[in-house]
Amino acid sequence: MAKARKPAKKRWVYRFGGGKAEGSAKMTDILGGKGANLAEMSRLGLPVPPGFTIAAPICDWYFKHDKAFPAELKKEAMAALAVVEKAAGNKFGDRDSPLLLSVRSGARASMPGMMNTVLNLGLNDRTVEGLARHSKDPRFAYDSYRRFIQMYSDVVLGVDNHLFEEILELHKEDRGLRLDTELSADDLRELVEAYKAKVVEEVQRPFPQDPREQLWGGIGAVIESWNTPRAVTYRRLHHIPEEWGTAVTVQTMVFGNMGNDCATGVAFTRDPATGENRLYGEYLVNAQGEDVVSGIRTPQPLTIAGRQRDGAKLPSMEEMMPDVFAQLEQVRRKLERHYRDVQDIEFTVQKGRLYMLQTRTGKRSARAAIRIAVDMVKERLITRDEALQRIEPESLDQLLHPMLDPKAPRTVIARGLPASPGAASGVVVFTADDAVARSPRQRVLLVRLETSPEDIHGMHAAKGILTARGGMTSHAAVVARGMGRPCVAGAADLRIDYIKHEFSSAGRVVKEGDVITIDGTTGEVMLGEIATVEPELSDEFATLMEWAEKTRRLGIRANAETPEDATTAHRFGAEGIGLCRTEHMFFAHDRIIAMREMILAEDAKGRSAALAKILPMQRQDFIELFRIMKGLPVAIRLLDPPLHEFLPNTDRELADLAADLKVPVEDIRARAVKLAEVNPMLGHRGCRLGISHPEIYEMQARAIFEAAHDAAKELGESVVPQIMIPLVATKSEIDVLKTYIDKVAADVGRETKSKVRYKLGTMIELPRAALRAREIAETAEFFSFGTNDLTQTAFGLSRDDSGSFVKIYEAQKIITHDPFATLDIEGVGELVQIACERGRKGRRNLELGLCGEHGGDPASIHFCEAIGLDYVSCSPYRVPIARLAAAQARLARRESAP
Ligand code: ADP
Ligand code: MG
Ligand code: MG
Repeated sequence: MAKARKPAKKRWVYRFGGGKAEGSAKMTDILGGKGANLAEMSRLGLPVPPGFTIAAPICDWYFKHDKAFPAELKKEAMAALAVVEKAAGNKFGDRDSPLLLSVRSGARASMPGMMNTVLNLGLNDRTVEGLARHSKDPRFAYDSYRRFIQMYSDVVLGVDNHLFEEILELHKEDRGLRLDTELSADDLRELVEAYKAKVVEEVQRPFPQDPREQLWGGIGAVIESWNTPRAVTYRRLHHIPEEWGTAVTVQTMVFGNMGNDCATGVAFTRDPATGENRLYGEYLVNAQGEDVVSGIRTPQPLTIAGRQRDGAKLPSMEEMMPDVFAQLEQVRRKLERHYRDVQDIEFTVQKGRLYMLQTRTGKRSARAAIRIAVDMVKERLITRDEALQRIEPESLDQLLHPMLDPKAPRTVIARGLPASPGAASGVVVFTADDAVARSPRQRVLLVRLETSPEDIHGMHAAKGILTARGGMTSHAAVVARGMGRPCVAGAADLRIDYIKHEFSSAGRVVKEGDVITIDGTTGEVMLGEIATVEPELSDEFATLMEWAEKTRRLGIRANAETPEDATTAHRFGAEGIGLCRTEHMFFAHDRIIAMREMILAEDAKGRSAALAKILPMQRQDFIELFRIMKGLPVAIRLLDPPLHEFLPNTDRELADLAADLKVPVEDIRARAVKLAEVNPMLGHRGCRLGISHPEIYEMQARAIFEAAHDAAKELGESVVPQIMIPLVATKSEIDVLKTYIDKVAADVGRETKSKVRYKLGTMIELPRAALRAREIAETAEFFSFGTNDLTQTAFGLSRDDSGSFVKIYEAQKIITHDPFATLDIEGVGELVQIACERGRKGRRNLELGLCGEHGGDPASIHFCEAIGLDYVSCSPYRVPIARLAAAQARLARRESAP
């Protein structure tokens, strides 16, 4: 027997810095995104302060061992620290020139601001003096110390941040100071003493002075921040598994708070709102870490263009620190060439030198995503296929819907930064919980002074977000862009009163529950709801769609019955109508009366007389659709719902109808009772109606043929309508109906002296039809899978009644998703597949399409591509989404092909 191999030694610590690293960007699963990319930037030769990352499995180990650390970790960490000390040229805990550290969290998936960080670690009453002497800057040393005490006490000892803020504010007030930067070294010394006293008061022991104890305390607290309520909520919303855990990065501090040639900042390598190819971000002089995003001071723009766009008063970095700006530009180019995507970076400037502290893929608006993808193809950074794969099809939704009509009158009551594009109207709420509570019934807008990670659930529930404070990289702005919610940030005129639940601006008072509109593209805040118009789509959008066209195989049609819907569908590139539901055409006022007359008629003769009134209207409907679709296929489904649906259900409507038709109310009521069914979904509907009331389908067929004839004359080309029979279960149903329709075709042909051509097909929405597809296809020339009904009938589940328990099923993981939203590929999908295979045996060139809600769902589209359907049909606004998803499905299939 072979000797058992010794398991590979598990290691905990990975070093980085000085142009090298033990980790790399590929190792996000163990180093977390932050640690892995610090390693990667080190390898790239970018200026990264040296440090090491403790692998994410530590998280699990720590919690399983009663919050202890493995002995090997302690050894490895101390060895790594020695290397870092050597690279940095000073020692951790040294009294003369102490090395200070930051301890940072970082999981595999980015969870911005959700977990903890400790900065300036290693300071105590002695080392602070050393730092003051060594830097010749006591102010800086004590500024760092008071920051450290506050942060460490908050994160590790659990002392509320606000207690320190209060001390600071009181001190500034006493001295008549406005800004933190005006505090002198002596002020800061006093503050340190006051902070330490506060710690004793709160935790009954002195602030820890031993740097090692501080270090392990910091590491433990960062690990524990994986399980704070806000981190748990964020994980749930973003489907991040709990098992992943966070890695911990320990890194040499660099200082942005050493004077006016120092700064800290955040940037995107391209504009995340518009996609423009230029550096975009903010910085603060003489500041540290979170000062930029916390709203304590107003950050300054990085570029001149940024300053002009935001109308900022303070100079940009491009003007104030041109050398540093040049370094940043260089880093930007290098990062983009390397990562081939937009990066979201954090940096610090110490004495005129730039240091990189973080990089990750930048979140962006849908508009920016498209522009960036298309630009990057032109810059030869990525291929067209990659560009297509980079855009989340669902995200296009943000671009396709109506936007505020620029000509609509509006009362602008405030202006802020255009932080996340798009417009939203809704009722005002002031807390995240209220947003959640109201959102099922109303569109809500969340209005806050600023948002924090605790507000995530409310931001999710809201249609838009408005804040009074904060910049383009504030929490509200970043999160809103990620979620695709419109956001106006930093609308400084807003006076928000959380207690009275109202805000005022420009002399107007807006109370909770009042409607306002925000425009995240312009930054405007307006009273009431504003009229909307169709959006203009960018050239880049058109380019991307062109590429999708060249790539996709699957056809895309739209479900449409009104001229408006058909026009929208055509404009968005639909290749025809896959489903025209004729019953929707009967609900207009003048028609429903005729329809009711037809239903109430005593006999076929009476019905025909009523139908004769509807015929010209129906014909006109079809002429319009054929005209708009200009010769593209139009699939018209004959009447589907039970007749009962057309009868009135209130007493008043009943009385009106009786008066209109001059019949006693009682007669109508009696008829309605007779038509009522116990289970209408499985009742007298679909082709069953056509069989029992042939004159209805005959009228519809006539309207279709006459309209096709008229439209063909007008268009100068032939129009071959597709007639679709709903709810077929047997071949004989469609055979019987075909004889009726053929007779109408012959009649119309004779009358118009032309040859009537049409295609007869069927919906496949019953399991029996799927199974008997072969013989059905002998008559049917096309199949259209009505996957809404097919899902209902396959599961034996009524869509309208499933709401109450599908959620429970999802929660208990009995099903992974709502089968009415994404096709159940295993079950319903198998029926579709069987019907395709058998159907093609009955008719070789059988046309196969899908027209349920699933036709616009990207995951379902992947399935349709995989089984080789000819087309999917979806709602008009989803056509571009489906076109892109179809292209992606094609690419995915090509890649998986051997
Ligand atoms: P988050 O994941 O919340 O962004 P980070 O670990 O990135 O937390 O830390 C927040 C901020 O702290 C950074 O953006 C940076 O400004 C500051 N910071 C972190 N590490 C260092 C360091 N080594 N030197 C200076 N500042 C640092
Ligand atoms: Mg960060
Ligand atoms: Mg149906």
